[in-house]
Amino acid sequence: MKQICILLVTTFLLITNGYAQEVVQRKFQKMGSSFEITLVHENPIRAEKLIDESIAEIDRIERLISSWDQDSQTSLVNKMAGSRAQVVSKELFDLIKRANAIARLTDGAFDISYASVDKLWSFTGEEMQSPSAAVIKTSVAKIGFQKIVLDEEKQTVFLPEKGMKIGFGAIGKGYAADRVKAMLQQKGVKAGIVNASGDMSAWGTQPDGSPWQVGLVNPLNKNKVFSWFPLNDTAVVTSGDYERYLLMNGKRYGHIINPKTGYPSQGVVSCTVFAPKAELADALATALFVMGTETGINFIDQLPSVEALMINDSGNIITSKNIAVDEIN
Ligand code: AMP
Ligand code: MG
Repeated sequence: MKQICILLVTTFLLITNGYAQEVVQRKFQKMGSSFEITLVHENPIRAEKLIDESIAEIDRIERLISSWDQDSQTSLVNKMAGSRAQVVSKELFDLIKRANAIARLTDGAFDISYASVDKLWSFTGEEMQSPSAAVIKTSVAKIGFQKIVLDEEKQTVFLPEKGMKIGFGAIGKGYAADRVKAMLQQKGVKAGIVNASGDMSAWGTQPDGSPWQVGLVNPLNKNKVFSWFPLNDTAVVTSGDYERYLLMNGKRYGHIINPKTGYPSQGVVSCTVFAPKAELADALATALFVMGTETGINFIDQLPSVEALMINDSGNIITSKNIAVDEIN
């Protein structure tokens, strides 16, 4: 569960140009998480239909990128690792290309090929024994986005070593949020929020013209929203380790893997990233976990149109330069 909530702070109904603009909202489960779609529309029946179409679009994306579905194109790429190149759709090919661009940007902190170590760890919240250093070393050697062979002309993906694997856990929900937003905008929806388990893509305004607001909650003090931010045609994504973590020798490790060491990350409990697209925000929020607070915030401060807020395991909140936090608990 991502520690973010949205609040529709003003009235749900407004009359504009003779049409009542209503806020229509639906919660549902997809991609193993809870989603919520909020639309501003003058026709509630049409709005419900648009939400049905959004759900169908999320299903389609899940079938493309899922590592659980043995028949997804992603699983086929993984099965062919070390043997041969797999033809994929342009959509998946382009997603991998963009993921690799973010991997370069983050110096490999975000890397879809992290997945060759994901079976070594189980993030059940319980104490576990570390896999042996030798096992980790062998698995880590398979990680490396630079090794992924992309053939633009044939539209193929090849993982050259047996045991290499890719996974979209850190970017898939953000991608889905962007795609659903784009689809709804294309169908004429003027305002809404797609919330994919805390990965939010917003556009337009509330019916009264005021911006959508996102409230951030400190995971170490969940009862209190410590800051509100307006969302103007932007995305906001939070990565957190409050549910998916493990303990080793009593120490807590989050579910995000450091691709350089193969070990789960430590020290950061939550990262929130604001960016024009949820896909980028999602990937960067994951990367910040690996980078840690100091390197992470310095990195964000170099990027245009991106802001971040990180919380470390002592409860300290560290923000990029253009974010002001109203009240720090
Ligand atoms: P998120 O909640 O967006 O931060 O995504 C976390 C998920 O991304 C994990 O559950 C893994 O599936 C995947 N993941 C873990 N570590 C990495 C990494 N370093 N780079 C890319 N994906 C990762
Ligand atoms: Mg992410």
